[in-house]
Amino acid sequence: MNLSKFERYPLTFGPTPIEPLPRLSEALGGKVDIYAKRDDCNSGLAFGGNKLRKLEYIVPDAIASGADTLVSIGGVQSNHTRMVAATAAKIGMKCVVVQEKWVPHYDAVYDRVGNILLTRLMGADSRLVDDGFDIGIRQSWEDAMQSVRDAGGTPYGIPAGASVHKYGGLGYVRFAEEVKQQEEELGFTFDYIIVCVVTGSTQAGMIVGFADQNRADRVIGIDASGTLDQTRAQVRQIVDNTASLVELGRAVRDDEIVINPDYAYPAYGVPSEETNDAIRLAAKTEAMITDPVYEGKSMQGMIDLVKLGKIPAGSKVLYAHLGGAPALNGYSYYYKDG
Ligand code: PLP
Repeated sequence: MNLSKFERYPLTFGPTPIEPLPRLSEALGGKVDIYAKRDDCNSGLAFGGNKLRKLEYIVPDAIASGADTLVSIGGVQSNHTRMVAATAAKIGMKCVVVQEKWVPHYDAVYDRVGNILLTRLMGADSRLVDDGFDIGIRQSWEDAMQSVRDAGGTPYGIPAGASVHKYGGLGYVRFAEEVKQQEEELGFTFDYIIVCVVTGSTQAGMIVGFADQNRADRVIGIDASGTLDQTRAQVRQIVDNTASLVELGRAVRDDEIVINPDYAYPAYGVPSEETNDAIRLAAKTEAMITDPVYEGKSMQGMIDLVKLGKIPAGSKVLYAHLGGAPALNGYSYYYKDG
């Protein structure tokens, strides 16, 4: 496998810490040891998160293209568009982000706080449109790129979640290499890695990276999209593209792509009572803040899999914390009483 041939523009602090979560482990019966890899604390850019690992491999291509404007897309409370706006500010480009109505919401300030507030603050042109949830390539995104051209600019398109981009999977291949190195320092290896999956390139990159270590099937994706078939197909496509880019040297088998659909209910962006309980438990035991759209659902999934014994006693589990806490501000309605 060869990742080093790709240029990387540093946007993060460096390897993210792996932190033991003893009080959460104890609250779940003390039979498994849970750790978190804190990609939510990976950068000083606008609170960081998983998209920056991906963007590190995309920025050199954007600069080389001669573009002056990054154009991307997400929901109103998209972490991804926040991270694209941050990257544009940092590298001195302009930014246009299309924000679709992916989620029904109840908070009066939903479209003014959290991610969208930060996006606007960093100077991005944030355009609200009415289209609903879809992780694929969208007309509104194509239209936004055309509007930049019409105004005499040169756009560089980054799809939702930076996923269906030729280099979208590389950042999380690097994550797998980083985990291996950290395991050598820790003196043990993890039995399972838990990761939230929606647009797919985070898990897809991990699958390729861990396939090189022959343990891709230990990466348990917890779906938060609620559109499993589309997400799985997108992960498959990104795995194949990324595996060929880094010259993995073999095809990734279907059984190495593990996605659990059981925790995405009731819908993308809407937490269940169990999601909210998981968010509360992580906050009260470890002061680790997760959100109702993404990490709350992967936290809920991990908790349930431990309680059901599907993660066997004695396991060491690595929870990949991918960020997302700013969205909580748009969901205050659920947490008035903690
Ligand atoms: N966690 C957070 C905080 C996110 O912003 C995202 C983005 O969609 C994910 C998880 C899911 O990652 P991916 O879209 O690469 O599947």
